Amino acid sequence: MPTIVPPYLLDRIAESADPRFPLAAEAARRALLRLPPARLPLIVPDAPDQPSALPDAPSQPDRRISDAEGRETLPGRLVRREGERATGDEAVDDAYDGLGDTHRLFDRVFGRDSIDGAGMPLEATVHFGRAYDNAFWDGERMVFGDGDGEIFTGFTDSLSVIGHELAHGVTEHTARLRYQGQSGALNEHVSDAFGALVEQYALGQDATAATWLIGEGIFTDAVQGRALRSMLEPGTAYDDDVLGRDPQPAHMRDYIETREDNGGVHLNSGIPNRAFALAARQIDGFAWESVGRIWYDTLTSGRLGENATFEQFAAETLRQAELRFGPDSLELRAVREGWQEVGVAVEGAQG
Ligand SMILES: [Zn+2]
Repeated sequence: MPTIVPPYLLDRIAESADPRFPLAAEAARRALLRLPPARLPLIVPDAPDQPSALPDAPSQPDRRISDAEGRETLPGRLVRREGERATGDEAVDDAYDGLGDTHRLFDRVFGRDSIDGAGMPLEATVHFGRAYDNAFWDGERMVFGDGDGEIFTGFTDSLSVIGHELAHGVTEHTARLRYQGQSGALNEHVSDAFGALVEQYALGQDATAATWLIGEGIFTDAVQGRALRSMLEPGTAYDDDVLGRDPQPAHMRDYIETREDNGGVHLNSGIPNRAFALAARQIDGFAWESVGRIWYDTLTSGRLGENATFEQFAAETLRQAELRFGPDSLELRAVREGWQEVGVAVEGAQG
């Protein structure tokens, strides 16, 4: 189950006896105990989606926001449907807006109507559980906790978190990268990449202006941390007495072999994250027009196995960069150099 806050971080908080955070340790323990409900595998067509050439008329999202009212039952009470006015409940309205921003990026830039490419309703539940320290995609909907208020402020006001979770749905309907080991880290990476792009697109930021942070603003001021992850500088997002130090590697030489966290899916995703951000910055301009297109083409190419390795994924991004931008393009060169910079071998890619 893809959650935004990785288990190793909840472990740290759960074990903390820091008197500044009397509620957070208990909240983290509950979040660990009450992992998201198991889901059934989605039935998706075997044929991957065909990448569409250019988006035609923009599609409209079909959003439905429900309120779990502090309970852990889904979906909760439906409180805002598409086209309805703001409710005044910040979590409800932020989730509604965030789903709209995510839909807009996929629709306008990649010509994809919603998660499944066929106008699937975008559903979310807010106020899940009491002080619940996580947000997740359960295969059908986005679910947001309110956070404990001591360490986590809540999860609906971070657009990169919303984009990240919905991108898990897109991956599930396209490349179906298995959530384990390297393919799992790629699954996490793809969600971070599109989560960042959703935020950049909504803010009109180019690759230089972008923060490349995932989950900026989800920590309270009591925590020494900017965000959950930094795509550009993995390992630097936080460094705090309670949270410890951001453990993400930024290079293959520091790749973490572990059985925790589905084989380190939230850890080793730092490596492709950095390759993506470096390539975007080298090309500059709007990242959704360069690396975003290349990564989306890769995801929908039908050429990635469910157990794809970093090297296989990288090779496919190079192939797609060449197809879309040409053999002598800055885009192809930047993507190749991005992978080289993080130590992912991209042999056979001449140029
Ligand atoms: Zn995730």
